[in-house]
Amino acid sequence: MEEIPKSHPRYHSLIIRKKLVDAFRQGIVVPEGLIAHGRGEALDYILGEKTLEPAYRAIKAASALLLISKKPVISVNGNTAALVPKEIIELSKIINAKLEVNLFHRTIEREVKINKLLKSLGADEVLGIGDDASETIPRLESKRRFVSPRGIYLADTVLLALEDGDRTEQLVKMGKKVIAIDLNPLSRTARTANITIVDNVIRAIPLLIEECKKLSNSPRDELEKIAYNFDNEENLKAMINAIKDRLSMLTSLEVI
Ligand code: ATP
Ligand code: MG
Repeated sequence: MEEIPKSHPRYHSLIIRKKLVDAFRQGIVVPEGLIAHGRGEALDYILGEKTLEPAYRAIKAASALLLISKKPVISVNGNTAALVPKEIIELSKIINAKLEVNLFHRTIEREVKINKLLKSLGADEVLGIGDDASETIPRLESKRRFVSPRGIYLADTVLLALEDGDRTEQLVKMGKKVIAIDLNPLSRTARTANITIVDNVIRAIPLLIEECKKLSNSPRDELEKIAYNFDNEENLKAMINAIKDRLSMLTSLEVI
């Protein structure tokens, strides 16, 4: 396959695309996942491909919530498995969370491939594969409704990315706390989750790892304060304002 020259101005973005295309060829990512990435990429371009201030605040609240949760689960789909497989495993170990595969375009072949990939990178256990996904999220029609009775079904907190608004809504209705990583601050997922990190999973997961390590020795009441004082609606507004400020700055510089 063609090498991407390091000097290319969009080197990082091209590397990410290459990872997804390779994972697509291996049967881990579906074509729809490539399209979803395109939507995310466009939004990331507007952010300047960097983590903005409100996202750092959401990451801090999310880390506090993950640390105080009793049964946290990281929901894994094709794109996250392709982009940050090692990182989600590392995060799961730090916060003592289970990893569960949950796919919109669900096939047993893809579940098995993602399971193998995560195991080869050091995951001890991966839930949601085949018959393990024997429970059902109520009021959900997509195949994302099938979940593991030891994982998402009994989780108190679910961390998810590139998610569908429908499942986010039903998980919240089941009484779970939902942390979403979504580059679109306007999506239903972003507006329905309890904590939305408007950032690229590529940056957000390593930042979550760092923050969880930093907060891991903090007293519980301090973590509760950080987690429960977070206002998602206000943070999303701050995020949209940060995007507006960035666009105004770019127009005043006359670079566009
Ligand atoms: P919703 O159903 O919540 O309204 P949607 O229909 O706009 O969302 P989906 O196709 O269901 O979008 O999910 C893809 C979402 O994931 C998009 O909002 C997209 O911006 C986001 N996304 C894509 N790539 C990334 C990434 N690398 N990091 C974070 N978010 C991403
Ligand atoms: Mg959707």
